[in-house]
Amino acid sequence: MKYEEKAAIMQKGASLVFASPEALLDDDQPWRQLLRTYRKHVCLLAFDEGHCIAQEGEPDSGIYNYNYVEELRGILTDVPTLVMTATLPAEQRSNVLKILHLNPKDTTTVAQNPDRPNVFLKFVERNKPGQEGGNVPKWLQDYVEELQQQGTKAPKAIMYCRHINTVTRIWGYMMASLGQRAWVTPGSKKPSDLIVEMYQCGMTMGCQERVVDRFTIDSNLRCIVATMPFAMGIEVPDVRYILHWGLSSNITDYWQEIGKCAVDGKPGVALLYPAPSIGHTPTSSQTFKQLVLDIQDGKVTCMRAAFLSQLWLPEMGVQPVRSDANCDGLCAGQCRCNKCVCCSLCQSSCPCRK
Ligand SMILES: [Zn+2]
Ligand SMILES: [Zn+2]
Ligand SMILES: [Zn+2]
Repeated sequence: MKYEEKAAIMQKGASLVFASPEALLDDDQPWRQLLRTYRKHVCLLAFDEGHCIAQEGEPDSGIYNYNYVEELRGILTDVPTLVMTATLPAEQRSNVLKILHLNPKDTTTVAQNPDRPNVFLKFVERNKPGQEGGNVPKWLQDYVEELQQQGTKAPKAIMYCRHINTVTRIWGYMMASLGQRAWVTPGSKKPSDLIVEMYQCGMTMGCQERVVDRFTIDSNLRCIVATMPFAMGIEVPDVRYILHWGLSSNITDYWQEIGKCAVDGKPGVALLYPAPSIGHTPTSSQTFKQLVLDIQDGKVTCMRAAFLSQLWLPEMGVQPVRSDANCDGLCAGQCRCNKCVCCSLCQSSCPCRK
């Protein structure tokens, strides 16, 4: 933030300031001074995406720079503090409170069930050696086919990957498979005309901004292949698929990411593909890896229940249990029973799938 901008905020007495802690507290000493003078007028210090202040495990592992968060709280000690987030498991919550120097006894938590009931959770194992399709998973081939056939009417998707290499590889595969159909006007070759884009930190700021702008405004862009932070703070209501190629950093992040799916309340699908193996994602949390191992070993019967129990807070009350399948076994795969709209594990236990 420029000094003049900061000065303008102070002089004109803005009633609301949106900023990152580091923008307020960079090496600019006068601004720190101003903040100290101004603090008696501040009535609320609010953090959005509060789960980014700290991750599970290490308190200093969040996306927010915790040094600045701590300092900001240090300057605005007496100001009521609000932290908002979609998910914050108990351990992570205590890390956040630690960084904010808040005593749990002095805080109130308002928590709701973080379930996304309209999003079907799907777990897909990778192809076995020699299986049809080779290294390209069947679900990816199916989605490319949807893009090929429906073009700008195909379901919108965000595919999250762990590494830039994976992003470029998958994007390259999709581009090659789509050929001329990768552009709104077949073969136009204009970047602003692509129906599949990638988003990763190796791209210039300009390119990143173009992709974000297009995805939020231009409905012709159907798919983004991205490294994890994409879409934080972006609201695109009709994303039908969230596809995870590899595990997110932790269960909180995973649930935040699938929160981008079907915000319009219509059905959506979140597909988890722990490729090429969970050992390939060393930076993912142990809890997440263990949960995926348990799914693979058949120890988990419902993905939704398993994920939610990791995100559940005592303030949410008793975790609800989904009722059994209400299916007569005669629906020929079009079943919309309680089991069939929950997750792939529940679905496989529905009478009509047996
Ligand atoms: Zn389930
Ligand atoms: Zn059925
Ligand atoms: Zn069913």
